Order: sequence, then structure tokens, then C-alpha cells
Amino acid sequence: MVENAEIVIVGGGIAGLATAVALKRVGFQAQVLERHQELRAGGTALGLFPNAWFALRALGVDHKLTNTYQIFTKALTTNLETGASQEMVLPMKKDRGDDIGVRYVKREDLLKALAEELPPDTIRFSSKLISIKSETLEDSSKITALHLDDGTIIKAKVVIGCDGVHSAVAQWLGLSQPLNSGRSAAYGLSVFPEDHGFEMMVWQYLGVGIRAGFIPLNSRELYWFFLHDSSSLEQDVSRSPEMILKEITDNLAKNFPSDFLTVAKRTDLSTLAWAPLRFRIPWNVALGRAQDGNVTVSGDAMHPMTPDIGQGGCSALEDAVVLARCLSQSHTSAANDKQWVQKGLKRYVDERKWRVAGLIAGSWLSGWVQQSGCGAQKWWSSATRWFRDRYLYKFVLPRLVDWVWKDCGDLSFPVKQ
Ligand SMILES: Cc1cc2nc3c(=O)[nH]c(=O)nc-3n(C[C@H](O)[C@H](O)[C@H](O)COP(=O)(O)OP(=O)(O)OC[C@H]3O[C@@H](n4cnc5c(N)ncnc54)[C@H](O)[C@@H]3O)c2cc1C
Repeated sequence: MVENAEIVIVGGGIAGLATAVALKRVGFQAQVLERHQELRAGGTALGLFPNAWFALRALGVDHKLTNTYQIFTKALTTNLETGASQEMVLPMKKDRGDDIGVRYVKREDLLKALAEELPPDTIRFSSKLISIKSETLEDSSKITALHLDDGTIIKAKVVIGCDGVHSAVAQWLGLSQPLNSGRSAAYGLSVFPEDHGFEMMVWQYLGVGIRAGFIPLNSRELYWFFLHDSSSLEQDVSRSPEMILKEITDNLAKNFPSDFLTVAKRTDLSTLAWAPLRFRIPWNVALGRAQDGNVTVSGDAMHPMTPDIGQGGCSALEDAVVLARCLSQSHTSAANDKQWVQKGLKRYVDERKWRVAGLIAGSWLSGWVQQSGCGAQKWWSSATRWFRDRYLYKFVLPRLVDWVWKDCGDLSFPVKQ
């Protein structure tokens, strides 16, 4: 069966839904293809930094989340080798309103808040893209045929790949395969029957080759993470969440403070996940082909990064706003230009590529230093730890964070005619 569509977004995660909402706000209608039967809320929670709130405000959905989730102003990091603790202040962007700060939000709430903005049937579930073919029409505009696993072919004027770290669209464009950072993360949601009593701040612990912590989402639920550079969990992953949790609490984190262990032991096992941390080489994003004709990528499909400065999802939200604005501007200013799609998408990639390449590099470096050079045996580990304990949290991270907290602008003008 062959269908025709104007704009098709492949993937219904944060990037895909935010892009559909952004396009709707500037007057375009898009169809979202999602391979699963429903929205996926895996990953439990994520930190949304001020740049994400600027984007969510531009998308008109920030108010749905700001009432439920409070702003965090403090992170406490304890070095388990020395016992020393350092406090880091998480500043707010007061100049753009009191509601712009750091909040930790359940993924399912973010996805729902975005999905509710879309007209019914925008998201087409159980629709997996399996291959792409592009053809140039007589007027030199391009059309792209998307082949789905149920045999359907959709011919689209614009294709936006929001299909995550293993993106088929990025592969088709020729972007490099994401690399394994050699580190991995286990994470989950813990639920207490009554008030857990922890202060609302980021609680973080540093061990050799380990960075772990927990963050209260409300008075009963906490999100926890355990980043490590060993592969020991990999063997347990194929077994069960119980095995992963047991390996963490009984072995890898057995000497961690009781607070962390108490939280981890309260994990709702249905939320527990494990993932190797992958990233795309930054210069491949900056200099590679993230757009070809009427096809581009966004979110993890364009710039997979390690989660060390919590920017993967935040920058996907920024992508959505910038992409919709570029397409809208290109459409408005080029009434008779058959190339407006190509020009709009090129403008989007040009605006995003250096910023996201910087975020990938900043995330990787920050993770590497925080996990103390990834490995106790390496000659540089003690130097890295020395730098981390004296300078990273005091001077480097606050500056990095300030650079990261950019306002991507709004979508109020121009709007597609
Ligand atoms: C441990 C960890 C902690 C993190 N913490 C943070 C944080 O605090 N803050 C932050 O901003 N980010 C964080 N991130 C990163 C963040 O989770 C990702 O950057 C974000 O989820 C990317 O969203 P996405 O929509 O681009 O990709 P995804 O969420 O992967 O969505 C891709 C979607 O595409 C669908 N799909 C894939 N292939 C196809 C296909 N062929 N056809 C149809 N559909 C397809 C998938 O089913 C999926 O729904 C963290 C990541 C990890 C692993």
C-alpha cells in the first residue's frame, strides 16, 4: 500500500513528539511513526535543565509540569574515598522568570504532556521503519519513500529521523555509528510507602570508576542511577532486574552509604534498566551529513551523548524548536521556491551542529573526569581525581552548566502562512 504524506517523523520519543508539537505550533501537520504499540516511558526520570524549560515554554507545555515538579537548587557530591562532600549550587535563570531552573521529571509525564498537544491519530503506533529510498522529481524537489515493516510505503516531502541512538535514518544519511564509551548505567525508580524524608536535592557519590546517586521526585518516589566503567553488570543484564539490583547492592555498591542502599533496595523492579553509554564522535556530527535533501535527524538520532551533564533530552527539545522555526522561516520567505524544505533543514542543521557537538564532547569529558579517568589502575587516574576534587565542581562544571543553559528562542513568529 502506498500513502502520501507531507512531513513524517520517525520515532515517538522525546525528540519525535516535541518536533511534532513544534511543527504544529508553526502551522505544519506531521505524522509520527512509532515502532512500539504505545508511548515508551522507560528510563524512569530525567533532569530537565533551563534550556529544556525555555524549549518547553516555546512548545506551550511547560505549565503542565512546573506545578508537579519543583526546582532543584543544590547538588551534594560525596567522595567515598576521602569522605569529603562538596555542595554545588544549581542556579536559576531569574531573568526569564522564576520557573526556569533544574527539575527532575518522570519521562512518562513529559511524553504525555507532549502527546496531548497533538491531534488524534498523529502518532501511528506499531509502525516500524525498515528502509528508505529517495528520488528527485522533475522540478528537482525530493520525495522520500519510507518502507514500513507491515509493507506500507509512505512517500513523504519531509522526513525527520527521531529514531534514537540506533537510528536507521542517521545510518541512511551516512552518519557514523555511535561508539560505546566503555561505561554503562543502571537506573530505576524507588517507591517508599510513606515520606522518604530525604531533602530535595541531588545526592551524588563518587567511587573509583563509579558515579552514583539519587534524586527525590516527590515525597515518596526517587530516581536513582549507578554509572560504572566495569562490564560486570553486562552478564547479569541478560538475566533479570533482580540480578542487576543484587549485583549493585551486594557487590558493586556494598560499601556505599546506607542512604543509597536504602533507596536502591526500594526499587520498583519493573522500572529498572541498564544501558551501555554511547555517543557519536562530535566532529562527525559537526562535519558529517546530518541532512540530505528533505531528510534530517534530531535528538539521539543526530547527537547521542553520554548522560553526564543531562543534556540528551534537553537538547532534543531545543532541536524541535529550532527545526520548526527554520522550516517555517524558509517556507514563509520562499513562496515560489521548490527548494524551501532543503534550505530550511540545512539552516536547522547549521544552527545545531556545533552546539550539539560541543555538548557531546562536554558530556563525555565531564563523565570521564567524574568517574576519575575511568579506572583505578591507569596512571592518570590519581591526577584526574585530584583535578576533579579541587576544580571540577567548584569552577569547571558551573561554567559548563552556564554555557549549556542557552535559550533556543520561541516559535511565536514567523508562522507558516
Ligand atoms: C542513564 C541515562 C540518563 C539520562 N539522563 C538524562 C537527563 O537527566 N537529562 C536529559 O536531558 N537526558 C538524559 N538522558 C538522555 C535522554 O534519555 C535521551 O537523550 C532522550 O531520551 C533521547 O530522546 P529521543 O527521542 O531522541 O530518542 P528515544 O527516546 O530513544 O526515542 C526514539 C524513539 O524512536 C522509536 N524508533 C526507533 N527506531 C524506530 C523505527 N525504525 N521505526 C519507528 N520508530 C522507531 C523508538 O521506539 C523510540 O520511541 C539520559 C540517558 C540515559 C541512558
